[in-house]
Amino acid sequence: MDQTQDAAPPRASRDLAVELDAKDPLASFRDRFVADDPALVYFDGNSLGRLPSATQERLATVVAREWGQRLIRSWDEGWMSLPVRVGDRLGRVALGADAGQVVVADSTTVCLYKLVNAALDARPGRDEIVVEANDFPTDRYVVDGVAARHGCTVRQVVADPITGPTPDDIAAAVGSRTAVVLLSHVSYRSSAIADMAAINDVAHRAGALTLWDLSHSVGSIPVALDAAGSDLATGCSYKYLNGGPGAPAFLYVRRDLQTTVRQPIWGWIGHRDPFAMGPRYAPAQDIRGMVSGTPPILGLTGVDIGVGLLEDAGIAAIRTKGMALTDFAIDCYDAGLAPLGFELASPRDATVRGAHISLRHADARRLSAELIDREVIPDFRTPDLIRIGLSPLTTRFTDVWDGLEVLRGLAT
Ligand SMILES: *Cc1c(COP(=O)(O)O)cnc(C)c1O
Repeated sequence: MDQTQDAAPPRASRDLAVELDAKDPLASFRDRFVADDPALVYFDGNSLGRLPSATQERLATVVAREWGQRLIRSWDEGWMSLPVRVGDRLGRVALGADAGQVVVADSTTVCLYKLVNAALDARPGRDEIVVEANDFPTDRYVVDGVAARHGCTVRQVVADPITGPTPDDIAAAVGSRTAVVLLSHVSYRSSAIADMAAINDVAHRAGALTLWDLSHSVGSIPVALDAAGSDLATGCSYKYLNGGPGAPAFLYVRRDLQTTVRQPIWGWIGHRDPFAMGPRYAPAQDIRGMVSGTPPILGLTGVDIGVGLLEDAGIAAIRTKGMALTDFAIDCYDAGLAPLGFELASPRDATVRGAHISLRHADARRLSAELIDREVIPDFRTPDLIRIGLSPLTTRFTDVWDGLEVLRGLAT
C-alpha cells in the first residue's frame, strides 16, 4: 500500500517539531546569532531581531580601526557611500528594487514624514491622504501631522482586522483628490499581506501615488517593489533585518520619480555637491536627494550585516520557513489553545500571511506578562492580542512548540 496516499497531516507534537527542525535547511543560521540562553523562547524577532555574531565583531572593528585609527579619513574610505551601497544590496536581496532606488537613512517615522511630504509635492492640487484606520500608530500620526500643516484631509479606510485592506477597500476610498495612499504591506497586528500590485493599480488609476510601509515584510517575505509598480516605500531594519536597536530605516523612491519628488528636510548631505558648501540647497537628482544629514555609521554597519545574512539564506528559503513556522504555530493553536478561549487573529492561508501570528484572548495582557516571567517573550498588543513573531532565521519549530505549551499551561 502506498503510505503517502491520503496520509493525514501529522498532528502538532514535540516529536514533529524535532523532525521539522532536523529537516530545516536554514537551521544552521541560528548559530550565526547570539542565542546563548537555552531557556529563552524568543517570539519577538519582529520587534527587535537577535544580534548577529558578525555584528559584534564588525562593530568592534569599525569602532577600533575605522573610527579609532582612521578617523575622518574613513568617510572617503567607505563610510560616505555606505547608505547607498547597503540600500542597493537590500533592494536586490529583499525588495525587488533595481540599484539606485533605495537608501538607508533616518528612522521609519522620519522617512514616512519625508515621503508623505514628497508625495504631496508630486501631486499638486490634490489634498487627501488615504491611510488604514488600524495601521501602526506612527504611520497615522505622521500623516495627521503632515495633513494638519498642509490643510489636507485624511481619509481612513476601515478594513477587516484579519484580512487587512483589499484593493476594493482602497478603490472605494481614492478619487481625484487623493495624493497618496499609505499602507503597511504586512499588518503589524494580523500579519495579513496586502495585495501590493493590485492596490498600486487602483491608486494609479485614480492618479494617486502609493507609499508602502515594509516594516513587517522586509526580511520575512519577498517584496517586488519594481515589478508591482510601487512608487515609494520605507521600513525598519531592526526587526527581521536584525540591524540592531534604532538602526536606520531604508527608503525607496521609484527611479522616474526621483527628479520630481522633493523631501522637506533640506540638509547638506542630500545636496548635489555637499562639499561645494554652496549658498543654496540644490538636491541630488538621484536617491541621495532623500538623505538629509550625516549617515549613522554604527547603525548602518548592523544593517549591512543583517542584509548579508539575508543574502546568504535567500529570501525564498526564508519565506518557505516563515510559512512552515506559522502553519505549525496554527496547528499548535488548533490542538491546544483554541479550546482555552484563544482565537486566531491572523489569516489561515499562509500565502497571505507574514511571519507572525496573533492570538486574541480576553486575558492577553496578563498572559503576556506571565509568559515573559517564564522566559517566553511575545509581544502584547492592546487590547487583547498576543503576537507570536517567528523570525525564520532564528526560530526553531521546537521553540514554537515549547513556547505555546507554556502558554497553554498558563491558560488552563
Ligand atoms: C515598527 C514599526 C515602525 C517603527 O518606526 P520607528 O520610526 O522605527 O519607531 C513604523 N511602522 C511600522 C508599520 C512598524 O511596524
